[in-house]
Amino acid sequence: MSTANLITVLLVLVSLLYLLILGRIFRKRDVRQRTEIFLVGYIGLSLLWIVGQGLKFYAFIPANILSRLTLYGILLLALFFFHLNRAFLRRGGRGLPWWILGFGWIVVVAAVSEGLVPFPAAWGNVSSIQVGVWLSMAGWALAMGGSAVLTSRAYLQTHEPLHKNRLQYWILALLFTVGSGVLFFIENPVLSSGVHLLGVLIVTYAALTHNLLDIRRMVRRSVSYLIMTLFTVVIYTAGFIAVQYAFQSLPNYSPIWAGATVAVILAILFNPLLTLVRRFMRRFITGGGYDAGRIVQEYSTKINNILELDKLATVTLTHISRSLDIRRGILFVVHTELGSNGSGSNGASSEDGQFYLRSVIGAGDGLPPGASLPNGTLSAGEPVGDYLYKEEQPLTQYDIDMLPRFQEMVPEEQAWLTNLKMVVYVPIHVKGRWIGLFTFGPKHSGARYYDSDLTLLRTLADQTGIALENARLFYDLKTHMIRIEHLNSELAEANRKLTRLDQAKSDFIGVASHELRTPLTQVRGFNDILNDMASTGDLTPEMALQMTGSIRKSATRLQKIVDTMFDVSQIDTEMLDINASPNSLSSIINMVIEELSQAVDERKQSLTVEKLGNLPLITGDGQRLKQIFANLVQNAIKYTPDGGQIEVSGRLLDGEKSSAEQSVEMVVRDTGIGIAAEDVERLFEKFYRVDDASLHSTGETKFKGAGPGLGLTLARGLVEAHGGRIWAESPGHDEEKCPGSAFYVVLPLESGRLRVLEAA
Ligand code: ADP
Repeated sequence: MSTANLITVLLVLVSLLYLLILGRIFRKRDVRQRTEIFLVGYIGLSLLWIVGQGLKFYAFIPANILSRLTLYGILLLALFFFHLNRAFLRRGGRGLPWWILGFGWIVVVAAVSEGLVPFPAAWGNVSSIQVGVWLSMAGWALAMGGSAVLTSRAYLQTHEPLHKNRLQYWILALLFTVGSGVLFFIENPVLSSGVHLLGVLIVTYAALTHNLLDIRRMVRRSVSYLIMTLFTVVIYTAGFIAVQYAFQSLPNYSPIWAGATVAVILAILFNPLLTLVRRFMRRFITGGGYDAGRIVQEYSTKINNILELDKLATVTLTHISRSLDIRRGILFVVHTELGSNGSGSNGASSEDGQFYLRSVIGAGDGLPPGASLPNGTLSAGEPVGDYLYKEEQPLTQYDIDMLPRFQEMVPEEQAWLTNLKMVVYVPIHVKGRWIGLFTFGPKHSGARYYDSDLTLLRTLADQTGIALENARLFYDLKTHMIRIEHLNSELAEANRKLTRLDQAKSDFIGVASHELRTPLTQVRGFNDILNDMASTGDLTPEMALQMTGSIRKSATRLQKIVDTMFDVSQIDTEMLDINASPNSLSSIINMVIEELSQAVDERKQSLTVEKLGNLPLITGDGQRLKQIFANLVQNAIKYTPDGGQIEVSGRLLDGEKSSAEQSVEMVVRDTGIGIAAEDVERLFEKFYRVDDASLHSTGETKFKGAGPGLGLTLARGLVEAHGGRIWAESPGHDEEKCPGSAFYVVLPLESGRLRVLEAA
């Protein structure tokens, strides 16, 4: 066959092949997606370009015209390839600037090549067609370089093996396309067309096939096949040569015997050797497979009888991750809320409804810490929720990224899935209900999940169903139990409070009967005497004045007790009013002392005040602060025998800090009867009094004069309302030795709490 005939045959064959590819695309799909449109354009152009190259070999069209046309053609092809590349990588936008640049470039190349642009004389004998070729080369290199940059960037960015595999195909196609361009420019049209065809085939396969064959696996299998074949050949050849050599030296050499012996020896040795080589290859080349049956059996033994959800999640994730060499995984439990269209259990169609995914536990590296494992919500009407709910099949992130079915996802769901950084999602169903979801990250080896992996995962998920359902029920039960326990303890606490309230009520009645009765009796007594004297006419104005004075005193005492009771109840119900303003503690203490000086004198006690002059102003309610210290000093007078000493002192705490953080400590110290250790804390409780009140003398400042047992309760309430603390210290209670006691009050200079009250 002459070269011309050969070329004709090749040309026809290649053209037919292109038409066949185009035909298949149109038959299988309605070409609507961006990738498919560009692909069809690219293949069509390739066909024209190759026909153009082929026609150069025929004389009936002037070769130079064809050369120029194919020159423009390769630029146009490169431009289409670049845009096809962008579509393949799913880059947004139409890339309009690139189209304009590309077509502009082609127009310039055409104008130059057709001699429409005059050259400066200095360029000498450079032909216009030569410049056109250079320009065309530059434009082509730019488009190919751009594609290479885009593709390699995408390749480096993805860690998902399936995406990587898809890009590997593209890289291969790119290499072929570049190769064909180079061959074109060095004017080898036949080879260039052939290589271009290979590029087009790979591009078509990669762009239109979802489940692409795994390049890594293909390469590994080929290598392993090669090694096995070589091994077999070497063993047989070596065996034959060695045995024949050994037999030849024997006296009765018979080729038949020698052959038989060789066959026997090889048959014995070959199998073990082959196993050895296979093992070696599995370890270092093809990667270790696994025994799915054993994994499933071990798995079901392990998860049997696990009732705790956390434990089940840990065991399942660990077992699966170890068996399949997976980096990380999370187990979610799914709570379903289907709307009116949903059917819940039988898996019929449901348009509305939500699946709430609560993460139980995650295992492996690259996970967010325990507490922040991301819970999520998938909608039943959205593609992913719909798939996992209805199909009961594993879903890969690659499917979600690539399949048209998942293109219309709501951004929140998409963001949640992306954030999980997982590769496979395996739903867990029980009797048609979706109850859980395993999510798994990439494998340690970087290999993809093969179909066999997905089948195994599905089997394991099926095995998990019942166990997960039980664990969920158990978990719900436990949660309910905890809630009930919680309610129980709340009830017990409420009970305790009620008992305390009840006690307080009886205390109140006791106190009221004792404390209020004394002054009341006095009021009534004086009143009766007044009445009698008035009726007999014995009442002199002096006596009347004396009587009414006594009545007023008793009434004032009554009022004081009632006021204290009211204040304490205000504190109890947190309704106490505090009117904050700057106050001088020194003047407050002075006012207190002034009011009580008469009592101090009566009891022949000494009362001294130390170091108050230089204390800063304190923000608080002046009246209430006075009440605090009046109570403390009054107690000191009451519980110190005649002639004893009382001392009030104060100091600034945290002087080095800013005034907002400073506080003052005030101490009221006496040389009185002291307080027993067991009473020190309880003094501040309502109605608490160390001794039986009925044994006390009555009177506000008399030695051990009884009170209602509310003074310290009120003092504590007021101190706390100012954001401070109050406590008592004493070596013990002894009415003979009088060890004394000290009451400490620490008040912040500026209480945050008061500011809130002021604002309110
Ligand atoms: P009362 O109204 O009885 O004074 P308080 O609440 O002021 O009630 O005090 C409660 C109890 O604390 C008193 O009954 C007393 O036993 C004890 N107490 C208070 N202050 C002192 C003190 N300075 N020294 C010894 N005991 C004190």
